[in-house]
Amino acid sequence: MTKVYDVTIIGAGAGGITSAVYASRSGLSVALIERGLYGGVINDTSEIENYSGFTSIDGTELASKFEEQAMAQENVDHIYGDVLDVKKMNREFYETELRNGKVIQSKTLIIATGVKHKKLGIVGEEEYRGRSVSSCATCDANFFKGKHTLVIGGGDSAVEAALYLSDIVEKVTLVHRRDELIADQVTQDRMFAKDNVDVVWNALTEEVVGNGMHMTGINYTDRVTGEKHSLEAEGMFVYIGVEPVSEPFKDLIPLSPEGYIGTWNDMSVESDYAGLYAVGDIRYGSIRQISTAVGDGTIAAMSAYDFVKTGDAKYF
Ligand code: NAP
Repeated sequence: MTKVYDVTIIGAGAGGITSAVYASRSGLSVALIERGLYGGVINDTSEIENYSGFTSIDGTELASKFEEQAMAQENVDHIYGDVLDVKKMNREFYETELRNGKVIQSKTLIIATGVKHKKLGIVGEEEYRGRSVSSCATCDANFFKGKHTLVIGGGDSAVEAALYLSDIVEKVTLVHRRDELIADQVTQDRMFAKDNVDVVWNALTEEVVGNGMHMTGINYTDRVTGEKHSLEAEGMFVYIGVEPVSEPFKDLIPLSPEGYIGTWNDMSVESDYAGLYAVGDIRYGSIRQISTAVGDGTIAAMSAYDFVKTGDAKYF
């Protein structure tokens, strides 16, 4: 007979892993599904200085601590795969289908799929992705040692990436479409203090140019003067914001126009359906911090526990 889990958790980032820990320790049976690295986007971050308990910790190190804790749980089955579709069969029965054909059944569902980096959608970006274009500085910075590298964007991710790259590559140019950054002031100050980082303001990046093997630069327009410019560089990191990973759920539950899952009773992180919870960055209105994903993950597991044990939602 096919096993029916108490809870399926989709996504093993900070939120999903926290749900798995709390659910398992409550005695619930858990299927934890992940298609990539445990820790999710934490792996993309160099230094984390705003997660309680750590004055400063490397993102990959924190991710591996999350993974270690997930692996230590007794009631968790770790399932590697890409979710294709989820169906709600009745009030207490979900079927999660993976791309490899595997189907997982559960009484409740916790969605913790997070967000992915947006693309610029310009000529050359896809041609050189994986060779010169990336959205993961901590993964790919070493390929650009001794080279001039661009970072596109003006938020926390872009400025943190510029700062991280500045210790590895020859020179970093941050290319931003406006004349002010929205990144945290402390991180901005650190970046501006670096000798090998400069900023091109009001620049609309329009094309990645290259020699067929790797990129050689970009073409951009100055949004103030309207002038066209070229900038030589051998690498480019795109950090222009994020979008939700919610494609598999579009037929399961109504999504916000941007694709996020609403949890209208924030005290239980329950969605429009009893027994279906959204945690972390995928949750509409999330402020996208590790600490808030961990908080959501805890609440979702406790809510799922009440639902499985009593057949009803308990609002905290
Ligand atoms: P973000 O905060 O949304 O910033 C995106 C940046 O990209 C903005 O400066 C935006 O410009 C620019 N941009 C957007 N579309 C563009 C386009 N088509 N072409 C060029 N530039 C474009 O995204 P993020 O930096 O990835 O951060 C996402 C979330 O994670 C944020 O809430 C952030 O605070 C959080 N985060 C937190 C930390 C931390 O706490 N340590 C670290 C990383 C991320 P405009 O300013 O002109 O709109």
